[in-house]
Amino acid sequence: VFNFSPGPATLPEPVLRQAAQEMLDWRGSGMSVMEMSHRGKEFMSIHAEAEATLRELLAIPANYKVLFMQGGAIGENAIVPMNLIGRTGRADYVLTGDWSKKSYKEARNFGTVNVAATAESSKFTAIPEQAAWKLDPGASYVHICSNETIGGVQFHWTPDTAGVPLVADMSSDILSRALDVSKYGLIYAGAQKNMGPSGLTVVIVREDLLGHALPVTPSAFNYKTQAENDSMYNTPPTYAIYIMGLVLQHVKATGGMPAVEEHNRAKARLLYDFLDGSSFYRNPVAKEDRSLMNVPFWLKDAALDEAFLKGAQARGMIQLKGHRSVGGMRASIYNAMPTEGVQALVQYMKEFESQHG
Ligand code: PLP
Repeated sequence: VFNFSPGPATLPEPVLRQAAQEMLDWRGSGMSVMEMSHRGKEFMSIHAEAEATLRELLAIPANYKVLFMQGGAIGENAIVPMNLIGRTGRADYVLTGDWSKKSYKEARNFGTVNVAATAESSKFTAIPEQAAWKLDPGASYVHICSNETIGGVQFHWTPDTAGVPLVADMSSDILSRALDVSKYGLIYAGAQKNMGPSGLTVVIVREDLLGHALPVTPSAFNYKTQAENDSMYNTPPTYAIYIMGLVLQHVKATGGMPAVEEHNRAKARLLYDFLDGSSFYRNPVAKEDRSLMNVPFWLKDAALDEAFLKGAQARGMIQLKGHRSVGGMRASIYNAMPTEGVQALVQYMKEFESQHG
């Protein structure tokens, strides 16, 4: 099947095959990775290699810590302010859709939180221009969501926050394109789209931002504590880290970030070009802000939605139903979605249009 799920999402088949092969006996250890102590030499090597490969792929500078945590991106909505807002007590949030709005609401529990810009008046169909942002020079950080998984809106530029650390929720686009980590103070992402299974949250944080946690911060969610303990202050999500390591190796072996980005751009172009040429389907997002990862679209008549989904399912294309809050359809086309999957979808959409248009 071609699985268009927004997450947990499709993973590279060679990775899953390798994991299946190693399931009962990881490289002669006599153990499954699931059974290994996180402090044993076998798992320590898996953990270290996963971190090293991530550092290599994203060219993460040496003054950044990479943390493997739990709690997901929704957990980070609280963990980020708990760790960072203490410097000045204030933070700026840019609202571009459901996920950044959720982050903003949670952050309000921990300090004074300002909406620096919002695209709500355009129903979140565009990223607000930087010139219109009202940034607070005394903010501890500026928060964005680089890719809104529900609305299909993505930053294709990096905001200039005039020295205030930029924090990004990259849950649905990390590892999908080249990235200049040095422009960010902190990046966080749930692993379950481009990187691996759910249960693992990756945090990339500049060292100088550590050490300002509010006293209420649980020790397991204190970045400094985790950084000092190599993400082993509590038991990390070991199996998810192992699978992520395999995914990262796969990305490296297939050409690294430039190749991944080119592949993703080509796939998204196929789908958007088709949508733009059709009056039967509609994607309302401003062209320059469209997501390369999540492509929401609506049929001319919502009464046809059910038939569309049924026909797709019959052709092996699953998980195309849009988010319950917005309806319509959504094709999530993460790294592991092959071009053939998008071609099959476009072909089906053409046929459906000619039957019902
Ligand atoms: N942020 C973004 C951009 C997401 O896409 C998601 C999940 O789909 C989340 C946050 C929530 O992540 P989690 O369920 O891992 O907490």
